[in-house]
Amino acid sequence: MSQSPTKPDMVQISDFWIQKEILTMRWDCDYHWCNGVCCDVGCWFVEPERDRVAACIKEIAEYLRDRPELPFWKEGPDQWEFCDLGWDEGYYHSKAINNLCILQMPDGRCAVHTYCIDRKIPWEEFKFTICVTWPLKFRVFNGEWHVTLHPEFNDPGWDPCICIRPDTLPPEIRDKLPHVIESMKTTIVSRIGEKRYEVLHAYVKKNFGKYFTKTMNS
Ligand code: SF4
Ligand code: SF4
Repeated sequence: MSQSPTKPDMVQISDFWIQKEILTMRWDCDYHWCNGVCCDVGCWFVEPERDRVAACIKEIAEYLRDRPELPFWKEGPDQWEFCDLGWDEGYYHSKAINNLCILQMPDGRCAVHTYCIDRKIPWEEFKFTICVTWPLKFRVFNGEWHVTLHPEFNDPGWDPCICIRPDTLPPEIRDKLPHVIESMKTTIVSRIGEKRYEVLHAYVKKNFGKYFTKTMNS
């Protein structure tokens, strides 16, 4: 175990770095707990992500028929515009309508995610990055993968996201939370690859196995 020159809380495992807190983090996402509250303000993404979703927006919109207020059902020049311009050139933001992301179904699910599941499209590759990797962040720095908590993880503005404030979860849920590398396995694999995931899994099992669920620890 050694310290990253740039991130004092980072740990090097094999050829990648991971934030120390993640090694003992128990986390899961269930939109039933919160009705998908993290989607209320929409999400940010870059042009290629926008284009990928824009190419399928008519099919994705079919999952949003229970939201008659959306522009998709009124013919006009902006009928299929699902995003606003973001804070900087090349960045976009999904529109928030009636305090919900324009792509969120009334029960809290994401229409893009549901579209992927139904079409057997890998959602980890198709959805907007932030909607796949939250509450983690993956980036390559000096040719090495760095896995960190999202920079806004500790921002009080995200306190309604009860998954990252486990003390606010009911004990019966909190006590059964899986390790984050278990619940986010497919996301982690999609970013750093299967081999690094296996190395990470072995490392956490050896050093922090008590944070694993019974199934994963076996
Ligand atoms: S695109 Fe989907 S996951 Fe992302 S904020 Fe909108 S509803 Fe939520
Ligand atoms: S706030 Fe957390 S538990 Fe709720 S939908 Fe978002 S990621 Fe999932």
